[in-house]
Order: sequence, then structure tokens, then C-alpha cells
Amino acid sequence: MGYKSVCIDCRKSLNRPLETDSDRLYPCSECGKSMTLLSHRFRPPKKTDDKKWEVVQYLVENGFRYDHIYQKIETNSRGITSYQNYAEYPKNIREAKEFIEKYKEQARK
Ligand SMILES: [Zn+2]
Repeated sequence: MGYKSVCIDCRKSLNRPLETDSDRLYPCSECGKSMTLLSHRFRPPKKTDDKKWEVVQYLVENGFRYDHIYQKIETNSRGITSYQNYAEYPKNIREAKEFIEKYKEQARK
């Protein structure tokens, strides 16, 4: 498991191994702002792909950092919670809006 350090403004991403100081945010080497830590599952779009980066930014702003999101979370009568089916991350802004609405309880604020 590791993280990706991402600067959405510069559309840059660096792989980072999981370290003890993994909460530390490194400044972006281009703009100097703190980079955002996203799950290693995040696949950065091409630098020139405005629409995809727009989706990334929108999701991150709403608390979705490419961690697993579950389509269904159920707690049974014995109090055991089960998590079912990973939801796929949206690919365009319309899907992203639906995604955020549907899974807002799983967002990390
Ligand atoms: Zn930057």
C-alpha cells in the first residue's frame, strides 16, 4: 500500500511508499502548494485531459480520495456490517455528481 501525492493545479502525481510520517504533505516542486494524498489506486489522467482532471478535482473537494467506496453497506440484525461491491469511480462530471450524491455518507471530510 502506498499513496500518490498529487498536485491537481499542476496535474502532477508522485508515487509515495507508505511511511511512518505519511501524514506529512510535501510541497509541489512546481507551485509550492501542499500536495494532496490520494489512494494508490488513483490513476492520473493525461496532463492535457482537462475534463478528467476536472472530475478528479471535484471528487477530491467533496471528500473522495480514490479509496474504496462500497455500493452497498448493510448492517444485519446481529449488528454485523457487511460491505459489498466496490463502486467504480466516475469518468465524467455528470457521473461524478451522481456518485457524490449517492455515496456522500462515505465521503471523508
Ligand atoms: Zn503544483
